[in-house]
Amino acid sequence: MSTESLQAVRGMNDILPEEAERWLWFEAVVRDWLHSYGYRNIRMPLVEPTALFKRAIGEVTDIVEKEMYSFEDALNGDQLTLRPEGTASCVRAVLQHNLLYNSPQRLYYSGQMFRHERPQKGRYRQFHQVGVEALGFAGPDIDAEQILMCARLWKKLGIRDVTLQLNTLGDSASRQRHRVNLIAYFEQHLDVLDAEAKRRLHTNPLRILDSKNPAMQELIIAAPKLMDELDEAAISHFQSVQSILTQHGVTFEINPRLVRGLDYYNRTVFEWVTTRLGAQGTICAGGRYDGLIEQIGGKPAPATGFAMGVERLLALLQDDGVDFPREAMDVYVVHQGALAAPFAHQIAEQLRDANLRVVLHCGGGSFKSQMKKADASGANFAVVIGDDEVQANQVTLKPLRGGEQQRVAREALVGMIESLVASW
Ligand code: ATP
Ligand code: MG
Repeated sequence: MSTESLQAVRGMNDILPEEAERWLWFEAVVRDWLHSYGYRNIRMPLVEPTALFKRAIGEVTDIVEKEMYSFEDALNGDQLTLRPEGTASCVRAVLQHNLLYNSPQRLYYSGQMFRHERPQKGRYRQFHQVGVEALGFAGPDIDAEQILMCARLWKKLGIRDVTLQLNTLGDSASRQRHRVNLIAYFEQHLDVLDAEAKRRLHTNPLRILDSKNPAMQELIIAAPKLMDELDEAAISHFQSVQSILTQHGVTFEINPRLVRGLDYYNRTVFEWVTTRLGAQGTICAGGRYDGLIEQIGGKPAPATGFAMGVERLLALLQDDGVDFPREAMDVYVVHQGALAAPFAHQIAEQLRDANLRVVLHCGGGSFKSQMKKADASGANFAVVIGDDEVQANQVTLKPLRGGEQQRVAREALVGMIESLVASW
């Protein structure tokens, strides 16, 4: 195999150290935010039985039909899939470990998801989501809380220009009636439907409403509305969600065409959208999925959740020029001489005992070349150690951002660094 061929898989990105700093900052902000709403972390495997996703997401969805990385385990013949999303795994884990036994659960997870899509800006084959799920809650209060949470996160991160799209998908009886109406309606207009829509007609007619084909828009606009089939309970649920949002000053747009690409949703669905990422404008999406727990084999229980696309959020932040605090090095330890090397090791450990971030120069070289590295490291101080320093049990402390260098007794070093930092 030639070395040229050893590249990352198409659509799967390396996140290099410079960029990873932004990720770390983002993850810290997100974690604090989730904990401030009482959500607890859960970690599921990246690989699950293929049957889980087929059953949860739906056989005739884009994800299951054409986006999953599914394979047979060559060693035992198991049918497996790299997770394309987290909700199915999360629900599977909750049921397997009986977490809903005596209390509802607020859970979150984050990590890689895999979908075999055509790679483009904001759309990758390996991407990252932060997923948030509230299981065992039936009321509109939790739907609204999750949306308010998002609004708070956008504020915390400094994200502007995102809008909230909201819809209700009603419950299964209304959806069934709507489905029958839709099929009957589209059957009368077969000449207008494109091949994709014809294929979907009897399997997933709701998805036809999502088509971007200009030739079908007039037909779609005039199609039977789910809104006309909704029952009392679903209407009042939706109204309560809206009124809580309004009370909190969160504005939204009701989009009756928002149907989501996964089959498990009912009642409230929402998307946070920006116009600034081209066609990949949805940064966060979710809704209620009251039927899923039973569908996966659990005792029926309501649930609601959402997932954010991390790459898209970070792209938006970068686009906005939103800066973030970077974690700088405190000290770079420079040393030369046979006595100096072990002494430098000890000094470095002593500084780390005081919770300072320390790079110990490795690999030798002149003082001059080591000092260049110290400057380039971004550290605030260099600690310079030669054999004469060792003999005096001292070091030379050199501030790298202005200020005089000085000889400091070993025991006084930490205190000196701390007082200099405090005086800035
Ligand atoms: P889209 O309509 O953009 O394909 P989706 O409805 O398939 O999105 P969800 O399954 O709801 O997406 O996933 C939640 C979020 O994860 C999306 O809003 C998006 O921000 C992000 N996301 C989904 N697919 C990808 C991908 N292939 N690459 C990067 N981010 C993605
Ligand atoms: Mg998609």
